[in-house]
Amino acid sequence: MQLYYSILVFILGTIFGSFLNVIIYRLPKNESIVYGSSHCPNCQKRIKAYDLIPIISFFILKGKCRSCDHPISIRYPLVELMTGIGFYLVFNLYQFTLTTIIGIILTMILICVAMIDIDTMEIYDRFHLMIFFLAFVNLFLTSLPLLDHLIGMVVISIPFYIIAYLTGGIGGGDIKLMFVTGLLLGYKATLVAFFIAVIIGGTVAIYLLISKQKERGSKLAFGPFLCIGIYFAFLYGNTIMNWYLSLL
Ligand SMILES: [Zn+2]
Repeated sequence: MQLYYSILVFILGTIFGSFLNVIIYRLPKNESIVYGSSHCPNCQKRIKAYDLIPIISFFILKGKCRSCDHPISIRYPLVELMTGIGFYLVFNLYQFTLTTIIGIILTMILICVAMIDIDTMEIYDRFHLMIFFLAFVNLFLTSLPLLDHLIGMVVISIPFYIIAYLTGGIGGGDIKLMFVTGLLLGYKATLVAFFIAVIIGGTVAIYLLISKQKERGSKLAFGPFLCIGIYFAFLYGNTIMNWYLSLL
């Protein structure tokens, strides 16, 4: 039965993922998310329902538009796959609880934030507000003291603010993101989120420099790495922190 639920949650995730693709594509263009059917950006032809099956359609179509053979970005099935896995890991840990609901909403917000940040170098305030709302609801569910959550709001956001003030190297969107996630996660998991982001972000930055895909001093959005960190910290942050402290 557990396997059955897990598969169901994964499939549900991929379906929500295909909706996230619409948001990620249309929001920066100020297009309506609700109205207007999906169409090929090249030939404008409306995409048929049977070609909108998450992940699977991409492979049936061999990554090309059915009408004009225009290539479809690998991003679309990847976002669907990420959302599916994202939902699955949350459910696997928190099962049938309200925390699972918060987790899957957080997963969707983080995927939108990360992808739109990659495209536009911007994090929209509406996403901060959504996480703030989740964090507020979570205060009624959390097992941590309130003070942990309050310290969480400032533990990374204040140092970020100082770095931004001194060097301009961190965007306002990142500061606000760590402010609201701090309230959600508490300070221990927020620190874990930050360290995951630095490790993965640093590795990617070094790879891009060595492989000469980025120039030294060119900009790389930090938001997506924070999103990865926040997601895994939501799941395992306090476990990782307690394990780390037990080593000292
Ligand atoms: Zn087309």
